[in-house]
This record gives sequence, C-alpha cells and structure tokens, in this order.
Amino acid sequence: MATTEFVPDQAKTEEITAHVIWMTTGLSCDGDSVAMTSAVNPSLEDIVTQAIPGMPKVVVHNPVLAYEVGAEFMQAWYDAEAGKLDPFVLVVEGSIPNEQINGDGYWAGMGDDPDTGQPITTNEWVDRLAPKAAAVVALGTCATYGGIPAMKNNPTGAMGLPDYLGWNWKSTANLPVVCIPGCPAQPDNTTETLLYLALHLAGRAPAPELDEALRPKWLFGRTVREGCNRAGFAEQGDFATEYGSDHRCLVKLGCKGPVVKCNVPVRGWQSGVGGCPNVGGICMACTMPGFPDKYMPFMDEDKWGGAAASIMKFSYGPIVRYMRHRHIRNEFDKEPEWRRKGAALTTGYQKRW
Ligand code: SF4
Ligand code: SF4
Repeated sequence: MATTEFVPDQAKTEEITAHVIWMTTGLSCDGDSVAMTSAVNPSLEDIVTQAIPGMPKVVVHNPVLAYEVGAEFMQAWYDAEAGKLDPFVLVVEGSIPNEQINGDGYWAGMGDDPDTGQPITTNEWVDRLAPKAAAVVALGTCATYGGIPAMKNNPTGAMGLPDYLGWNWKSTANLPVVCIPGCPAQPDNTTETLLYLALHLAGRAPAPELDEALRPKWLFGRTVREGCNRAGFAEQGDFATEYGSDHRCLVKLGCKGPVVKCNVPVRGWQSGVGGCPNVGGICMACTMPGFPDKYMPFMDEDKWGGAAASIMKFSYGPIVRYMRHRHIRNEFDKEPEWRRKGAALTTGYQKRW
C-alpha cells in the first residue's frame, strides 16, 4: 500500500499497547459504532483479544460498548490528555458543530468540567486530544465531511473533522486525518483500518495511503458501478424502470453508483451479504464529500447518468446483448460434440507411442 520500501520493527510490536479513544459525541446517531459490532473481517473481538498474528495489544474505549459509566468511563479521556495512554488513536464519530455560534448554550459535549460543572464540548475534546493523538480517524460521513447535519441551512455550522482540524493537519505520527466515510461506515472498513493503524503504530505496516479526500486508497479506489453485480446489465443497455422488477441496472431510478467511490457492493454489508444496488437499493452516494446536498433528490435520475444510459440503451447495448445471448445459445451453453456414448473414440486423441 505504501510506495516506499518498508521494514517491519519486530521489537516495537512487542512493546506497545495502542488505545482507541472513540468519541461518538459529534452530531452523531452512533450508527457507525453500532454497525462496527457486526464486523467480521476482522471482528472487534479479533482486535481486542489480539487474535491476529503480529498485532499489538489494542484497548478500545467506546461509550456505546463500555461497561464503565460516568467518571470511571471518562478517566481514559483524561489519561489520554495527560499523556498516560501512548500511543492512542482518536476516533471521532459525528460531525463537528461550530461552538463559536452556539448562542447561550452548546451544541454537543461529553463529561463535565470539574471546576465549573459545565459540559466539556466536543470541540474542546478535539482541541485537547487531537494534538496528542498518534492517529486521528474520522468515522462515518458526518465526521469525515459533515454529512446530514452539515446540510445547507443547518443551524449548527456543522463540518467534518478535516474541515475543523485542517486538511493538511498531521498527527504526532505524521498522519493526516484518516477518513472512513459511509452512513454508516461499512463495518469491516472500520475494523480493518483500525487494525492497520495499530500495526502501523507498532512498526509492522507502512503509513496508509490515502486519496485526495483522505480515504484509504485500497478501500475507496473503485466506484460503486465498478463493483456492482448489475454493472453487466448497464453495459448491455438494460435498465430497470421500476423498483423490485428484476436485476437490471438502477441508474434510471436514481442510482448514483457510476460516480461514487465505495466498496460496499464488493464487500457487502455484513459477512459479505448485501450491498445497496446488489440487493435492489439505489446508491445515494453516502460516502462522498458532496453528500447529501449534491445528490438530491435521491430518487431522481442524474442527467448525465441518464444520458449515458440512453446512449447505451439505443446504440451498442442491444447489439452487445443480442450477440452475447446468441453465442451463449448457439455455442457456449452446449457441451462439445465428442462427449457421447459409442464404440468409437471421437475426441481427436492420438496415440503417441
Ligand atoms: Fe449516523 Fe450516518 Fe452520521 Fe454515522 S455518518 S453518525 S451513521 S448519520
Ligand atoms: Fe452509500 Fe452508495 Fe456505498 Fe450504499 S453503495 S454504502 S448508498 S455509497
């Protein structure tokens, strides 16, 4: 994944315990944490039990999953701030509100300041912890690019973590914000990236390669169309005109798959099953920085997608479809003619001795 040669550091692996400080107190529905519990490749259990060879010990502090509550739960946050958890990965779920425009209140917070009794805002936690984090992960489209809470006309001034920290911001391990978009983020994308970062911090893997929107390249390098199990129908100019009709391409029903970077059609949603257009739902572009505003109304056909579909439908698509089906029917759907009973060998075999 990295372009330069990488040499693992075995000694370092044995030394570190990587902590994951996981905030769900952006403007968030906790959906990314909940989705992550269904990951299988790797599972959260694989990570916290150190089941994968070569990986360091990983301790996850997540409010949706923790047994601890109140001050006991918050202790890890204060320990991270005090430099007692080193290294730690800060995971932020939910978009970042603009507390400079919160009027007399606050938009989002977690824990109380012991001196004032007032909530500690999400902005303040990010300000306290990000400068000390070895890696920072924005999880879900709200945290990566703002998502639904950052739609036009929202009152909170919500934004993604790279908008808040800066797109050129770097962690103590010299990594930019690592973005795992999706609404929610695909579960295995979440756990795989966390495992990768733990291996990197332990000296066992190179820095992750990210694209221009700070997404891991190996996860977000393909479009939905390029991984969709309906793509063959599009190529043949075969498009669905109503929901639930059959397996044809959904672009005329509003699917934005041709221009969306997402591996869900390839990876599925859970244990390899599902995947939006694979199972009949249009792609609404939930992994994209322009989501949702630039893709609405979701169920309207995109004019360029529609134009491309019309070209396929009324030009080469029917010819390709006709020729393929003809070849299948006349040639490839039939056995070779020598496979039959009889006294003579008709396979063309010739003795060589
Ligand atoms: Fe919830 Fe989606 Fe936002 Fe995640 S990205 S917090 S799943 S709305
Ligand atoms: Fe989101 Fe589209 Fe990917 Fe489904 S296929 S998760 S709607 S980007």
